[in-house]
Amino acid sequence: QQSAKPADQKVLKVGSETTFAPFEFQDEKTKDYIGFDMDLIKAVGKQMGVEVQVQSMGFDGLIPALEAGNIDAAISGMTITDERAKKVNFSKPYYKSGLSMVVKADNNTLKSFKDLEGKRIAVQIGTTGASEAKKIKDVKVREFNNAPEAFIELNSGGVDAVVNDLPVNEYYIAQAGGKDAKIVGEPLNSEEYGIAVAKKNTELAEKINKAIDELKKNGEYEKIYVKWFGK
Ligand code: GLN
Repeated sequence: QQSAKPADQKVLKVGSETTFAPFEFQDEKTKDYIGFDMDLIKAVGKQMGVEVQVQSMGFDGLIPALEAGNIDAAISGMTITDERAKKVNFSKPYYKSGLSMVVKADNNTLKSFKDLEGKRIAVQIGTTGASEAKKIKDVKVREFNNAPEAFIELNSGGVDAVVNDLPVNEYYIAQAGGKDAKIVGEPLNSEEYGIAVAKKNTELAEKINKAIDELKKNGEYEKIYVKWFGK
């Protein structure tokens, strides 16, 4: 009998779109998936006594993968929305987020969401940013596979703004690649992230909730939060 990793240890197959720093991204050297969500799901798995295996996939493929039973859970900075909750079960919220807008550093005309009327906006496909951007009058929304591609399009002048999750925008701006861009205006809304499981898998959702509760009680959640966001 092995004590470190019992042969019968269950595997939790987790899907994630892994270019969403600081929540999920690839360590350049080790190629491991790292970030706040990655640490959280590993800690959840540890609480549950299961081995977490992360599978990278497109954001718009996560819910279909849950529905098809190809993955057990999805953690991907995924906002809990009524529409998604019709298709999947969400854990309790684990992170407060919201949408913000990014423009080029030298842009002095776009100062808030109301200035986006009639403009060209880049978003990530299947996200809340995409659906909110489409509600703006006369906009031209261009959808990309991931947030980094949307930022590249902003840099090259193909769009006027990127609409995306605030903590991800902040992280991007703080990195070298984001030096030519800035966040403007107030966040558009407030959103909460949840871990998604298949609609019928209420048992797993319950276990995940219990694990999150435990991690909040024992200080582990706080540690992970401080590691990625400071304070
Ligand atoms: N929070 C946003 C959403 O759920 C974006 C998530 C993401 O791009 N990973 O739609």
